[in-house]
Amino acid sequence: MSKKVKSSKEKKKKLSFKTIISNNLFALKIIWTASPVYLFIYLSSSIVYGTLEFLTGTYLLRRIVNDVSSGKPISDVLIFTAILGVANLLINLALNWFWNVTSQRMHRSISMYIQKMLFKKSAEVELACYENPEFYDKYVRAMDEAENRTLSVMRTLDNLIQRFTTLFANSFLLFLIDPVLILFGLFPLLLGFFKRLENINDHKFQLARKPVNRRVEYIRRTFYLGEYAKEMRVGGMYENMLRDFMETTKAYIALAKKFGVRSAIFGYIQKVGLEVVTILGATLYTVWSTMVIGYENGGMQLGDCLVVLSSIGSISYCLNNLVQNFAEFGEHALFLEDVRYFLNYEPTVVDGSDKVPDEGREITVKNLSFKYEGAEHDTLKDINFTLHKGERIALVGSNGSGKTTLIKLLLRLYDPQDGEISLGGKNIKDFTLSSYRGSFSTVFQDFKMFSMSVKDNVLLRPEKEGDAELVKNALKESGAAERVERMEKGLDTILTREFDDKGENLSVGEQQKLSLARIFADHTPFVILDEPSSALDPIAEYKMFENMMRATEGRSVIFISHRLSSAVLADRVLLMDNGTIVEAGTHKELMAKNGKYAEMFKRQAENYLGSEVSKNEQ
Ligand code: ADP
Repeated sequence: MSKKVKSSKEKKKKLSFKTIISNNLFALKIIWTASPVYLFIYLSSSIVYGTLEFLTGTYLLRRIVNDVSSGKPISDVLIFTAILGVANLLINLALNWFWNVTSQRMHRSISMYIQKMLFKKSAEVELACYENPEFYDKYVRAMDEAENRTLSVMRTLDNLIQRFTTLFANSFLLFLIDPVLILFGLFPLLLGFFKRLENINDHKFQLARKPVNRRVEYIRRTFYLGEYAKEMRVGGMYENMLRDFMETTKAYIALAKKFGVRSAIFGYIQKVGLEVVTILGATLYTVWSTMVIGYENGGMQLGDCLVVLSSIGSISYCLNNLVQNFAEFGEHALFLEDVRYFLNYEPTVVDGSDKVPDEGREITVKNLSFKYEGAEHDTLKDINFTLHKGERIALVGSNGSGKTTLIKLLLRLYDPQDGEISLGGKNIKDFTLSSYRGSFSTVFQDFKMFSMSVKDNVLLRPEKEGDAELVKNALKESGAAERVERMEKGLDTILTREFDDKGENLSVGEQQKLSLARIFADHTPFVILDEPSSALDPIAEYKMFENMMRATEGRSVIFISHRLSSAVLADRVLLMDNGTIVEAGTHKELMAKNGKYAEMFKRQAENYLGSEVSKNEQ
């Protein structure tokens, strides 16, 4: 993956003209797919507005001055003005309705379409992506910018069309009066070069400050999130965070200065170029042509002089903004490059085509080795074991021995570099990810509660008929029923008070019980529990495991527990050390072997329950 990230970064430095066009077309295609009517009305209204602006401004002025100075009857001008007025009223009424009523709805459906695409992709990218800071930065940028940039392409195109319309109409008029004037009008095009430099500078600034902002965001979280509250109040962590905050602020100020100076220079050149060369130059030329040369010697008429002075401003403004529009397309393209990269990202954990059979089969892990990206050594080395149908395996071992990594591979959150995992004799890569992962119920140590109802948090899927009863039983099994019964809205209570005054905040132990109910509510053939009981006391944990063993009768279970007392309940124990399975067998067999497992068990039993129990267990 790092290769892919790198090549996209190289492209980012300077996008080719073709890429700029293609990225902007990509955005327009999204809007077109989401709502073709919206795009059509949005863009065609620009031509209407542009034409109206020209007719009611420059053209009307010229007509009035010329008609009055040549002695034509005033009624012609009045009729023309009245027609323009009525057209203006009707068109504005229709477009106003569109912008304020219809457009809101269409705008929302386009946003929804874009967000849905991003969410779908987010769920597809493998976990390894989250561990790659470069990919993660792009991912965050894509999520932040996709909607805004896609719609901005349409806005920029809209401005462009409107300006082209005004430009075309005004230039044609100036050309008829004196072709030399076009030269003044075209000068702002040269300034486009500086506009482009300014935009590239802005984009670089945005990229440079993203990691700084991420760090600030993290620091902010450590101050307000409950999970950091204890550590932040004990010892000197508060000061460390504050120091980090000051340092990131300094880094931000240094960046703002570096990029701000460049921005000021590019902006100044454009302003002076436009106001001094174009506007002043054209004014001097027109006044000279009218006053010094005079109409009789081929100079301009007084009426034309007025029109020129009014429309040269419009042309310069339009041209300068046209340049800006083109530069904006370049800027949009840079951001859309991230969006496209993200949406086109092909996950390395690829979907298979077969559906997992409903009834449980055995899972075989054969010669499995795995290394995290960027790690020096294999985290898992040559793992071999079979999880038989209906068997309960306890996976034990010291911290960092590779237990969670093995679980992640079993769930296909990562694919192994060597060896294979098969289900019913078939490589798990052959199954569709949704059906394969869907055949597991899992509870992790770092499980998360969602700010949704108790029911949703237990089911973790859309509700079906009869689910309320299922959830109630599951809560009973996991020991959380009593707590939920005390809640005013029962199963419909929203967890956390963030979005609901009547919501409930649960303690970690209560949350853990609730998350365990997920296992009981879902009758999948496989169950994986990664230290699900770490927040419970040893007695409660033992009880919970007993419950669980009962409730998962007939299902294949792998559980990790740092307390070996629960391993007694398993059919088989696998002891991991330094990425390999060093001992395997029933609790009794391993105790009889008197190896590493027996040593760990005795030590723990003494710590928790006193030496008597450890003697009895043997
Ligand atoms: P356990 O669950 O037995 O405590 P883990 O599977 O979590 O062990 O970790 C095994 C080893 O892999 C540890 O050395 C850990 O630092 C490393 N590790 C875990 N997750 C990652 C990761 N995402 N990237 C790199 N190394 C990791």
